[in-house]
Amino acid sequence: MSRAPQKDSRLLLVEEEKILRRAVDLLGLGDDVYEALRLPERVIQVKIPVRMDDGSVKVFVGWRSQHNSALGPYKGGIRYHPGVTMEEVIALSMMMTWKNALAGLPYGGGKGGVRVDPHKLSPRELEQLSRGFIRGLYKYIGPDHDIPAPDVYTNPQIMAWMMDEYYRLTGIHHFGVITGKPKLLGGLETRIIATGFGVAVAAREVAKKMWGGIEGRTVAVQGYGNAGYYAAKFLHEMGAVIVAVSDSRGGIYSSKGLDPDEVKQVKNKTGSVIYYEKAERKITNEELLELDVDILVPAAIEDVITQENADKVKAKLIVEAANGPTTAEAEEILVKKGTVIVPDILANAGGVIMSHVEWMNNRIGGLITEEQAKDILEEKMSHNTRALWDYWHRELDTSKHPMRDAAYMMAVSKVVEAMKLRGLL
Ligand code: GLU
Repeated sequence: MSRAPQKDSRLLLVEEEKILRRAVDLLGLGDDVYEALRLPERVIQVKIPVRMDDGSVKVFVGWRSQHNSALGPYKGGIRYHPGVTMEEVIALSMMMTWKNALAGLPYGGGKGGVRVDPHKLSPRELEQLSRGFIRGLYKYIGPDHDIPAPDVYTNPQIMAWMMDEYYRLTGIHHFGVITGKPKLLGGLETRIIATGFGVAVAAREVAKKMWGGIEGRTVAVQGYGNAGYYAAKFLHEMGAVIVAVSDSRGGIYSSKGLDPDEVKQVKNKTGSVIYYEKAERKITNEELLELDVDILVPAAIEDVITQENADKVKAKLIVEAANGPTTAEAEEILVKKGTVIVPDILANAGGVIMSHVEWMNNRIGGLITEEQAKDILEEKMSHNTRALWDYWHRELDTSKHPMRDAAYMMAVSKVVEAMKLRGLL
């Protein structure tokens, strides 16, 4: 879903800990609770030797961080990325704990990552790497223990190899050990649209609160991978006007609005949205973030809205499709301007909500239809967005605290309550 982050991925953990600290303080909880929530329960490091196509052996390293299991089995994706660090994986696993709690799913939080540039591997090497990771990890995962899924640069084919490796090692067909699988192996096609559709639904619900509706509102989408494209497509269907989109090569602008499907076809054919000829003009990614639009959807990488550009962001509503696109300093500036930011842990929860439907479906032999899956997703996303909006307005001064604080407070209090009930706090 994104290209290489330029910054030190370890900083994400520092930022996550700060947001957690704020939520703990706002809830009036003590240092002991903060410490109990901060540390992951377990981090597994896996060494993965892979026989390369040229006959040599290359050693890769990966991690699975199991952050918190108070609400249920650990759940979260596995990313393949050359910039992956253990600290980043821990931070992302912590984010999954809050995302799953906030979404009302019976899951704790986990995340995995392998330090690799998957584009430099042949399909055979990629398969060996994926199987190797599961060989190192299989004792620590399972449908009732820890359930991985796709994340940055991993996909249904990789999930299928991983599930198969798990079967080879255990001898049992546990389809529910992993989600985001191909349809034939217990997956749901709806998972492909899930994150983007969820983002659109969250945007629609907040737009109703802010302006009475989403119809006619102008939107800029940064990033045209899975999340960005489907967010644009569904926002367009809901009546919003997609005036700008971009990918890593640059962006396009059209005041009358772009047709997301036509743009996607051009990207598929040529490799980038910038070759879409009906656009009024080309723009840079930086310009896109600063456009005079109603809604901005960052759907690419971490840390794109920073203290350098936050002042120039004109959108009144930002919906975070990517994980961590807004830095803490930028958020502070934006809150002062009255910009509403729908935080990642709410806005991009569509993927894991759909994973939960897939996991349930694997347990009941595949009775849930694609249509039902989409309905469940829409209902959960709209309900959760409205619930967070109300909590934010009820519990906090919205001119001082971003919606993110409310989201973390809701999530943290659920996890704390579960830990208390279990006798862990
Ligand atoms: N990787 C996705 C996320 O960050 C989905 C995780 C899952 O489905 O378990 O939310």
